[in-house]
Amino acid sequence: MSDPNTPPPASDFIRDRVRADLDSGKVQQVVTRFPPEPNGYLHIGHAKAITLVFSIAKEFGGRCNLRMDDTNPEKEAQEYVDAIQDDVRWLGFEWDGLYYASDYFPQLFAWAEQLIENGLAYVDDQTAEQIADSRGTVRAPGKDSPFRDRPVAENLDLFRRMKSGEFPDGSKVLRARIDMAHPNLNLRDPVMYRVRKLHHQRTGDEWCIYPMYDWAHGQSDSIEGITHSLCTLEFEHHRPLYDWFCEKLGIWHPQQIEFARLNVEYMLTSKRKLLRLVEEQHVDGWDDPRMPTIRGLRRLGVPPEALVAFCRHVGIAKVNGTHELALLEHFVRDWLNQHAERRMAVLDPVELVIENWPSPEHVEWLEAGNNPEDPAAGTRQVPFSGKLWIEREDFMADPPKKFFRLGPGREVRLRFGFFVTCTGFDQDDAGNVTCIRCTYDPETKGGNAPDGRKVKGTIHWVSQAHAVAVEARLFEPLFREPDPASADGDAFVAMLRPDSRRGVTAHCEPSLGEATGGQRFQFERVGYFYCDAKDSKPGAPVFHRTVGLKDSWKKVQAKGD
Ligand code: ATP
Ligand code: MG
Repeated sequence: MSDPNTPPPASDFIRDRVRADLDSGKVQQVVTRFPPEPNGYLHIGHAKAITLVFSIAKEFGGRCNLRMDDTNPEKEAQEYVDAIQDDVRWLGFEWDGLYYASDYFPQLFAWAEQLIENGLAYVDDQTAEQIADSRGTVRAPGKDSPFRDRPVAENLDLFRRMKSGEFPDGSKVLRARIDMAHPNLNLRDPVMYRVRKLHHQRTGDEWCIYPMYDWAHGQSDSIEGITHSLCTLEFEHHRPLYDWFCEKLGIWHPQQIEFARLNVEYMLTSKRKLLRLVEEQHVDGWDDPRMPTIRGLRRLGVPPEALVAFCRHVGIAKVNGTHELALLEHFVRDWLNQHAERRMAVLDPVELVIENWPSPEHVEWLEAGNNPEDPAAGTRQVPFSGKLWIEREDFMADPPKKFFRLGPGREVRLRFGFFVTCTGFDQDDAGNVTCIRCTYDPETKGGNAPDGRKVKGTIHWVSQAHAVAVEARLFEPLFREPDPASADGDAFVAMLRPDSRRGVTAHCEPSLGEATGGQRFQFERVGYFYCDAKDSKPGAPVFHRTVGLKDSWKKVQAKGD
């Protein structure tokens, strides 16, 4: 039964298939799984796969497992196992069962023996190179191994001795005995096991033969009673092998269905390449806010709800494509607009002095709404005084007509505060504005004139005497080119932007000094900022700009920066 609180499942080629299998009675309850290899941190592509498999299980009243595909100890680590669980939960999903492919090693071994006994697998003494050379090509058939017709008893004996550690790495493999002339190269006697004398993070030194992906994956699915094994397109040509193993063993046969990988402009979704960025210290780590890892996006301040909404929106496809970064940012902005409280902060300050302010000590406390989208967010008090900081770009000495901010003789509204009129300004020898002089209209407190006169612009500000200076980090995409994944080999490294992170001092209204890790704000007119839990100290928060208010990235590009 499906959950009555969940909207009816959308229609797409996977959901249609699931629905048909339920309707026909082929499956009673949907069981899916997310099967990461714990050899790195999850990235935005995994977020899509997670959203898909967990949502389908939920929509159809089924179950979804988290399975660590830990069959290759060389690159795997407990650190990744822990991080994967944490990241899945952060996205808002909870698995029904947590499993490890390594727990299935004994069953996989027994099934391999069964294939040997049925003449469907053999031990090959050829080197990896010889095996590759005799595989043939799409046009030319492969060549049978000289060991292909070994008697069953000899194969069984050798395979067991492989397991007991008698043979060195690379000296023998177990191969499925299918067809060396098969049009699909994956079925030309694929390797099932190789000897690797490696310590495994869970099974220790119990095993020195490890199963290949194609052998372990489908059988793990079968053991768990997975009904729909959803994976990315690159496994499409492996499906016949997936099916072959299940059929020959006569075990539960899950349906593998492939969907397109998620790619987003400026982002890499290859763990190997991301690892390289970390190892060569192009970034500070897997959780660097510029990384497309779930950790990185989290530290950038991307809310999990926005990431999941994006993943749902892009849906599934049968053809790989790349989504615009602006689309992801749209979902992030949309969520933050609803939920982030507003604050004022000035990132590039210039002094504004109010000449008719009653006295230097005089302070007015103004009521400021925390979120116009959410009245329940309430209000706060913000101090206003005769010396303020405003944003340098909000003033022009000789502004054009369409500049609706401050200039000599012009009147603007200071947000939540008063109308001010510019009476003059000071410059240093280099022509930089050092001080803007204004008068204020005491009648306009709160931002409206009793005589009904209007101003064209509203700008933000902070009181100098009350301002807290904090570190703010502004980010640009890590890469100069939108498609770093298309670079040959390791050429993506040369596409890194040298200036993808910039630190500035933000002069903030006092309440921001108290911000704690994990809080999200809109700095009015500047962008959405996230208080970083890792680098913030009590009283000294560090903010990451999650996203600008408008599509600032596109604008910068258009200017040819
Ligand atoms: P990588 O090539 O970066 O190592 P992977 O596909 O090998 O990635 P796994 O840990 O094996 O990583 O992936 C777990 C699951 O996530 C698989 O089902 C895989 O198909 C899916 N997945 C991985 N990358 C993407 C992506 N970019 N878009 C959608 N799903 C993905
Ligand atoms: Mg993989």
